[in-house]
Amino acid sequence: MARSTMKATAQGALVIKRSKIAGRGGFAGRTIKKGERLIEYVGERISHAVADDRYDDASMRRHHTFLFAVNRRVVIDGAVNGNESRWLNHACDPNCEAVIEKSRVFIEAKRDIRTGEELCYDYAFERDGSETDEDVFQLYGCKCGAKSCRGTILAPMKKAKSKKKAKAKTKSKAKTKAKTKAKAKK
Ligand SMILES: [Zn+2]
Repeated sequence: MARSTMKATAQGALVIKRSKIAGRGGFAGRTIKKGERLIEYVGERISHAVADDRYDDASMRRHHTFLFAVNRRVVIDGAVNGNESRWLNHACDPNCEAVIEKSRVFIEAKRDIRTGEELCYDYAFERDGSETDEDVFQLYGCKCGAKSCRGTILAPMKKAKSKKKAKAKTKSKAKTKAKTKAKAKK
């Protein structure tokens, strides 16, 4: 079932290096045309239940998993057998977008992109309704620098689509109090 990560990446489009936004990021290795499919978001395909067991957002100071919620059944964990796509950062006014096709996820250019630009897409993490302001702006905080930055990588209130997966914290409320030490992002 392993999908080739070579084929999943557009030739020369993506360079991974340190990002001002967060940790590592993906940058345009050449000019990219609007609509170009750059890379497939791959990784282990697991259920939401397995993803919830695997990662505990409440134990993180800043959210940093490589989960992508494809639909109600499938979550892709880019940390397992993933490719460079997992390094793409969130931005509130991004130059790329995640397109879901037959439960596969592809990152495509939303506009023409110059060589060297950081490639980002809107994670629009799903909310589960239990997020506090602290969660929204710290755990899931955004510092993308866009004029329209909404300050969080969570989906805008109403519009919440199931894209990237923000794990429900309801299950781990007790652990939140204990506040385990922060893990470094990436
Ligand atoms: Zn932002």
